[in-house]
Amino acid sequence: MALLEIKDLHASIGGKSILKGITLSVNAGEVHAIMGPNGSGKSTLGNVLAGSPVAVVTTGQLLFKGEELLSLSPDERARKGVFIAFQHPIEIQGLKFHTFLKRAVEAVRGEKPTVLEFRKTVASRAADLHLPADFEDRDVNRGLSGGEKKRSEVLQLNLLRPSLALLDEIDSGLDVDSVKTASAEVNRWQRENNGAVILMTHYKRVLEFIEPDFVHVMLDGRIVKSGGPELASEIEAEGYEALAKLSPRVEEKGVGKDEFYTSLIKLNKEKADRVPSVGGG
Ligand code: ADP
Ligand code: MG
Repeated sequence: MALLEIKDLHASIGGKSILKGITLSVNAGEVHAIMGPNGSGKSTLGNVLAGSPVAVVTTGQLLFKGEELLSLSPDERARKGVFIAFQHPIEIQGLKFHTFLKRAVEAVRGEKPTVLEFRKTVASRAADLHLPADFEDRDVNRGLSGGEKKRSEVLQLNLLRPSLALLDEIDSGLDVDSVKTASAEVNRWQRENNGAVILMTHYKRVLEFIEPDFVHVMLDGRIVKSGGPELASEIEAEGYEALAKLSPRVEEKGVGKDEFYTSLIKLNKEKADRVPSVGGG
């Protein structure tokens, strides 16, 4: 049995259809990269899996460890072993990282570490991630740089030790050394827990450090092509236009040619508009 089975998942935001039939199977220990341009629905997929109320699931199934996830609240999903690292982590004024992390570990893992034990664990992991020494005594994400916020998401991953991690643009805003540092910690969790990863990104760079078993191309709310790691290189070399060579998966899904080419035109426009720098998204 797969760890996660996504079956023909459709979701909309404010009445607008965003996910248009996602089918994906993820086994324990597997790394799946979802690559696609901005606006293709990568974050929406992650948010729907984690239980965010922003998007409404209209049809489809989400089976996790054989159980339907859709009826569960975000905290119940977290206790079952689903974790999300947000593309845009929010700041929470008045809540210290120490309290936030300790409560999260207690609620999700059912463990009750002493304050001293917990401080030791967090300090050591924070050091591994090159987070500031006073990190634990800061308000959640307040005053952290973009890269530090991302690394703090990875620290949460390592404390909560889920069976499935949804990593949404975990590399955005990070310089190459930080990508290496964050990836090493993701890999450590994955190795120690036989964790499964769904990694959303539009850059191939992070995939050099968190090596995918499968790469899926997402375009306009659909997975239009799936393959091995070589697909990421193909995308980088040829751009998403390479998809114009209609993949079997597109035909299989019955995407109309006109609709498909409209997406490609939109995609090219977005590419042209995009500032060619690291991060964003
Ligand atoms: P990606 O992560 O691939 O860049 P997103 O999932 O963020 O894509 O967005 C997919 C589509 O959903 C976009 O058209 C975006 O404008 C829309 N969308 C996402 N979040 C919201 C929201 N909170 N309200 C309205 N539209 C949204
Ligand atoms: Mg996104």
